[in-house]
Amino acid sequence: RAKAIGPNVYQFFTSKMNEQIHTRMGLEHDLRHAIEREELEIYYQPIVDLETGLVSKAEALLRWEHPTRGKVPPYEFIPLAEETGLIAKLGEWVLYTAAQQTSIWQTRTNLPIGVSVNVSTHQLKRGLSTATIADVLQTTQLSPELLSLEITESLLMEDTVANIQWFHKIKELGVKLSIDDFGTGYSSLSYLKRFPLDFLKIDRSFIRDSIGKQEDASLVKAIIAMANGLKLKVIAEGVETQEQLIFLHQLRCQYVQGFYFFKPMSVKDFERNILAKHGVPLLKKGLLRG
Ligand code: C2E
Ligand code: MG
Ligand code: MG
Ligand code: MG
Repeated sequence: RAKAIGPNVYQFFTSKMNEQIHTRMGLEHDLRHAIEREELEIYYQPIVDLETGLVSKAEALLRWEHPTRGKVPPYEFIPLAEETGLIAKLGEWVLYTAAQQTSIWQTRTNLPIGVSVNVSTHQLKRGLSTATIADVLQTTQLSPELLSLEITESLLMEDTVANIQWFHKIKELGVKLSIDDFGTGYSSLSYLKRFPLDFLKIDRSFIRDSIGKQEDASLVKAIIAMANGLKLKVIAEGVETQEQLIFLHQLRCQYVQGFYFFKPMSVKDFERNILAKHGVPLLKKGLLRG
């Protein structure tokens, strides 16, 4: 079978692979310098509280403007950062920068708008200490309850004593904890009772298919019911349509995030479109009944 493919095809594959390795090494080199070259920026995506109709916090999402390649999407450079260990440095930069920004907003506006920062499993494994989180709060003077950390399910599956202790220490600082991309990881739910969690973010894929696919609608219903029983607040990710919004509201899902309301935005846009207009309810009367 290998013979049938022929030498030219083989050559095609190797040069293609070479190219990929080159691109990767180039990107890795550039990513190492991205912080001091000021190519990184944090975008903020509002999370709306359906009970008040107001923005309650924003998710901090990292953006990289490469000098020659332009915008490099997170799904390309975050995995690279994780594999190379650069995520430790990048992750700390995001934590300090997002906390500083939120603290400035808090002081300036006196609005209780928080920030939610993604922390990857690799970051924790590479020793993101609770002392660092304490230092972030100390340095930026951000009220702890305005900071949430988003952790994906895979870490919660490793319910080692060290892991559970880390979570408890974070809780002692007053910081909130969210499970990100819920439903895409593992099937065991037993970790939900062992970790001190505050929010559960339902993955975008369930929300996307919840209108039209009975199975997904049932899963969303079940996740919200379970979360309520465990006293976890639910954030639905990737809400794009009014239908999805109404469906989620009927199920008493309290928070939604998604393009229906807002895309992730720059600091300037957040100040102009969110902070300056805060207090104006985002939901028109009658849109959500009951
Ligand atoms: P995530 O944590 O699940 O973040 C939500 C992603 O969904 C964001 O993608 C956001 O732009 C996108 N999104 C939100 N609402 C909608 C919607 O209505 N429709 C669609 N199609 N997409 C929506 P983004 O910014 O590209 O980030 C992708 C992932 O990269 C994040 O997924 C997160 O896992 C990772 N990431 C981003 N910033 C950081 C960071 O600072 N640290 C770490 N460790 N990971 C990060
Ligand atoms: Mg997230
Ligand atoms: Mg995530
Ligand atoms: Mg997510």
